[in-house]
Amino acid sequence: MSDALQQLFAGRELLVATMHEKERVLGPAFLARFPLAGCRAITGLDTDRFGAFSGERRRELDPRATAEAKARAGAELAGAELVLASEGSFGPHPASPFLSCDEEWLVLWDRARETTYAHRHLSVEAICGGVECSTWEEVARCAERFSFPEHALVLKHRSAWEPGDPIAKDLLERAALEDAARAMLRAHGRLWVEVDLRAHRNATRRRVIERAAREFANELAQLCPRCGAVHYAVARALRGLPCADCGEPTLGIRALVRACARCGASSEEPRPDGRAHEDPGACASCNP
Ligand SMILES: [Zn+2]
Ligand SMILES: [Zn+2]
Repeated sequence: MSDALQQLFAGRELLVATMHEKERVLGPAFLARFPLAGCRAITGLDTDRFGAFSGERRRELDPRATAEAKARAGAELAGAELVLASEGSFGPHPASPFLSCDEEWLVLWDRARETTYAHRHLSVEAICGGVECSTWEEVARCAERFSFPEHALVLKHRSAWEPGDPIAKDLLERAALEDAARAMLRAHGRLWVEVDLRAHRNATRRRVIERAAREFANELAQLCPRCGAVHYAVARALRGLPCADCGEPTLGIRALVRACARCGASSEEPRPDGRAHEDPGACASCNP
């Protein structure tokens, strides 16, 4: 293992700034790859103050800055030197706006060297969404559709939560879900049922975070060919994959660019799946 990776990880404990058990999905990838002394969650950190999915707290910063703020707050609270944090957001996929996309930012904060490493992962695999219901039977169909209880449900009487509104979460058993749903239906006549997006309540999002952690660990282990720093990471993608028929450049990704945040070195590499041509159906010349 390189000196740079040894310096960053050897014998150090990795702390995870989470109150939603993310150490269980973020830790294994880092423990498997690097000679860390261990990995555990920071206790007593209120990460909800940086924003909550169900709307009770609005997020003030962008997702990457939020992950960084969590990592720094965790380091401060625990007196830790190496802290990992993540922040997820759900919205339309940048390339296909009809798909809802989970954007996960992972941040590693090395307090001793005052250095931040960040990784972004996009996925459409996490189950998310919400539905208005007016009977328990509709709620029960929702529970089926959203794979309850692998995915917990949050109950509100309207989708945009306002201070003072009722909210029911952490309903882990069907009986608890039914009691809460019936009570809210009696009081309000309708219900907004949404998937709980918090990592410890959403199995598909946990798998996305797990994959993001493995990718991040792989990227951290890439060393800059010029200065030897860790995290010679993919910084952007280059479009222009040539069309298989006419050879004209398309909007498809042709290559990736890695860059070093320390010395500024950068280089191009082919896309990882080895694809060298775009389908003529996606070519503006062949299929205008
Ligand atoms: Zn073409
Ligand atoms: Zn470098």
